[in-house]
Amino acid sequence: MSIEKFSVEKVLSVHRWTHNLFSFTMTRPAHFKFTAGQFARIGLMVEGELVVRAYSVVSSPFDETLEFFSIVVPDGAFTSNLQHLKVGDELYLEKISYGYLTLARYQQPLPQDLWLLGTGTGLAPFLSMLQDFETWNKYQQINLVYSVRTESELAYVERIQEIADLFGEGHTGFKFIPIITRDPNAALHDRLPVLIGNGELEKAAGLSFNRDGSHVMLCGNPQMVEDTKEALKQRGLIMNRRGEGNIAVENYW
Ligand code: NAP
Repeated sequence: MSIEKFSVEKVLSVHRWTHNLFSFTMTRPAHFKFTAGQFARIGLMVEGELVVRAYSVVSSPFDETLEFFSIVVPDGAFTSNLQHLKVGDELYLEKISYGYLTLARYQQPLPQDLWLLGTGTGLAPFLSMLQDFETWNKYQQINLVYSVRTESELAYVERIQEIADLFGEGHTGFKFIPIITRDPNAALHDRLPVLIGNGELEKAAGLSFNRDGSHVMLCGNPQMVEDTKEALKQRGLIMNRRGEGNIAVENYW
């Protein structure tokens, strides 16, 4: 890994959500450009070696700083070190951004409804998209669906409301739909493919999946992405390829 590909940035803040979930912000160099939904590659020096991992950017492409959302992977070489991050620490940031989970990939069908389906830290790219006015201008209905195991893992809930109030001011079609899979008392507690199969997700959204107007993005647990993709195909939606189709995905690890 050539170190010249990276700039050295400083940690500006750290927010801990639970014992294994945290967010951090860092300085953004002027050369670092990205589109909402893309990811950065962040490096840490571990015992003299640069260890690098991909992280979707949470912040908007117009922000002066960069924000990321992370889970601590048990015994993971990267996050077991990253979890001790403090304000003022140095991180390496690869100079270019990556990824195709962006709204620009949709040409057909024309935008009508946007479904953002995420599990765990897979929420990150959707927060960036929702902080881009273009997203709100393009879609009549936007459903943000966020599946976690327990209520304590439901990070960013207040921020989501603030973002909707600010960026979606005057927009009447936004719904935030949390799913808490290990709480039988939660309004929605089944996994995404089940909720799609039995129609409960559409009921909660007050909207049906529609091959001629739905854009559906999936991000998070790779098995969730696989299973949810299949459930959506059963409902007549198709994968987005070369600009055409409903479903776009990103595996998070
Ligand atoms: P998770 O297992 O991904 O669960 C988050 C949500 O996704 C839960 O609601 C879960 O439901 C649901 N889910 C899981 N599998 C699904 C499937 N096949 N279909 C539909 N929904 C599904 O939990 P997490 O805490 O975000 O991550 C778990 C572990 O993954 C971490 O502890 C870590 O080891 C690893 N991870 C690794 C990385 C990495 O970069 N290497 C990144 C993130 C996570 P249930 O409650 O029913 O399971």
